[in-house]
Amino acid sequence: MSTDRPRIPGLGQSPDEGVSATITDALAGIALVDHHVHGPLRTAITRDEFEVLITESNEPAPAATVHSDSQVGFAIRALCAPLLGIPAHAPMDDYWDGRSRHTPNELTRILMGATHTGHWLLETGYKGDAILDPTALTAQGVGRVSEVVRLESVLESVAKGANASDLASRFTSELASRTREAVGLKSIVAYRYGFDFDPARPTEAEVTAAAGAWLRSITAGGEVKVTDPTLLRMLLWAGVDTGLPLQLHTGYGDSDVELHRCDPLLLTRWLRLIQGSGTNVLLLHCYPYHRNAGYLAQVFPHVYFDVGLAINYTGAASDLIVRESLELAPFSKVLYSSDAWGPPELHYLGATLWRRGMARALTSFVNDGLWSVDDAIRVATMTGRDNALRVYRIEGA
Ligand SMILES: [Zn+2]
Repeated sequence: MSTDRPRIPGLGQSPDEGVSATITDALAGIALVDHHVHGPLRTAITRDEFEVLITESNEPAPAATVHSDSQVGFAIRALCAPLLGIPAHAPMDDYWDGRSRHTPNELTRILMGATHTGHWLLETGYKGDAILDPTALTAQGVGRVSEVVRLESVLESVAKGANASDLASRFTSELASRTREAVGLKSIVAYRYGFDFDPARPTEAEVTAAAGAWLRSITAGGEVKVTDPTLLRMLLWAGVDTGLPLQLHTGYGDSDVELHRCDPLLLTRWLRLIQGSGTNVLLLHCYPYHRNAGYLAQVFPHVYFDVGLAINYTGAASDLIVRESLELAPFSKVLYSSDAWGPPELHYLGATLWRRGMARALTSFVNDGLWSVDDAIRVATMTGRDNALRVYRIEGA
């Protein structure tokens, strides 16, 4: 038989078990930067509250069912239980009994401590009273903490006492004071309106008119929550003007979003308009549009993305999403986040499922013959830590 039969380059190597071990060890050793996350719970919760906090639905599960019969619930029972002295896969009732023996701060220290995260970039704009703030989280000793400021919350905080013509300047000066120590900004325009907004910078006259209408509606007893698209655009452009990295919630999230209006491709014209401003945009989470985000991260030098949040909620199926985050985008444009809020199980799952998914994807790329082990470890380190250190101009652990 001929020994020089035709081969397809890069195909046909046999898997090397040593590759998997080397890559897994390297991933386990990275002190992650979680570039978008929220605090853990400040106080104890009930089992029913826990069930609602492990879904993006705002509703309790239908009668005779539980939210924890889901990928995230199974992942909690498999991966978090042993850290709390509970057998892996124990039924949820047993998990809850074991969990209830710990105080909220003990749960934070055990579960967030086990993530091996060097630096948390904490977004403080959502239900801040229920969770630990940056100072309180720092005191738990689970890693460095920096703040990311939510634009909409800053505007809402200056509404009282403002008038139509001074709202924008009051916002800008409050933003300057709130961001003195912050490392980034966040917008939830996806929740409040959608990405199908007019991409142009609003004129002063447009902002004054929109501000007048919003302030009048608040005076008449309406919601302070800002949903006016002109004001939301004003916030985005003001965010760009600061030069701070600007995070945009993208895709999957709670039931406030109209998901089809959160496809990041809808941002294309706005991204073109702000290109050259020097401000980087970080598309957060992005599921199920993470491939669209990967495209934008390839074509625009100022666009980055992650696949956080969806990783937690897809549990055993999250490997595929992590792998898909390594398709089109240059590896310098992909970051790690958990987007955990509340139960520290979510912080732990974010880190652990990301490491698991990366280990599997990178090992297969090496065993398939197109990647070297050194490149795999370099990409793991870039994605898990170094890209965030560079984009946010911060230090790791
Ligand atoms: Zn978030």
